[in-house]
Amino acid sequence: MRFIDNSIVDLPPGWEVRAGLATQALINGDIEADDRANIWQDLKNSLADISSDRCWYCETGIPRTDNAVDHFRPKGRVRGVRLSGDGESLENYQIQPEHLGYKWAAYHIENFRFSCQHCNEFRKNLRGTAGGKASYFPLVNEQHRAYDLIDQDNESPALLDPCDVLDWRMLSYDKAGKPFSHFNSGSEDDLRVKLSIRIYHLDQASVNASRAAQWAQVKPIFEDTKKWFLKKLRGDVGADACFRRELKKLRQWFNPKNKSTYLGFLVYQLEQEQLLDSESLHGWIGEILRGLG
Ligand SMILES: [Zn+2]
Repeated sequence: MRFIDNSIVDLPPGWEVRAGLATQALINGDIEADDRANIWQDLKNSLADISSDRCWYCETGIPRTDNAVDHFRPKGRVRGVRLSGDGESLENYQIQPEHLGYKWAAYHIENFRFSCQHCNEFRKNLRGTAGGKASYFPLVNEQHRAYDLIDQDNESPALLDPCDVLDWRMLSYDKAGKPFSHFNSGSEDDLRVKLSIRIYHLDQASVNASRAAQWAQVKPIFEDTKKWFLKKLRGDVGADACFRRELKKLRQWFNPKNKSTYLGFLVYQLEQEQLLDSESLHGWIGEILRGLG
């Protein structure tokens, strides 16, 4: 997961008026949300542009399919879900009173997330793991579930949100690319991370392998940058130019516009390297990280 700033999206002419009318019609019961799916589909390419065609939840590159727009707050009936006692599996429960969907958010731009099918729809893979957000929208406290727009801010979503400035930084990964929670077991943050890994299917073997393969490409550049920086400190001739060249190469991997990066994972790895730099010799690591918000 990476941070996605969805506050500036290119809107087609007349889009806001169409969305406003549809919202009113849906709330009045005159239409079903899917009747006007073209309203969010019209923004699909603009949403994809923000992340260079990568899923906002898992960062996998995805083709621009029709159903690539997820509603963070479900537009239809919401199903209750929580982690089981062992934290490993999901269990469903009945939301009381029944929730027929966040109709006020069905055509609201801030509720749209560009998403791959694995994160968006419920799927089971051959290895026996399953995931997909489907009609889930778990809350930290179910008692605060909003049935009206005016109460929406009472909700604390249990799922990590890529459009939140801080949420994406809560995920940790091992060297094999596997996501995990570093929070105290059973704490609110721990449950949010575990539930998100499970529901977004972030622990899929193929995605883990892709993350790890990427760091394997970046690590040598990182090591070279470090090496030239140390030579530069020693005063070696030409070291400064070599250091700058490697640093530029390294920064390309951390550019949010780079079409091929698992940025959230790379940032986490770089942070781990920064922790190993106990004498704070390599200040340039922090400069790369600071540039990512
Ligand atoms: Zn995804």
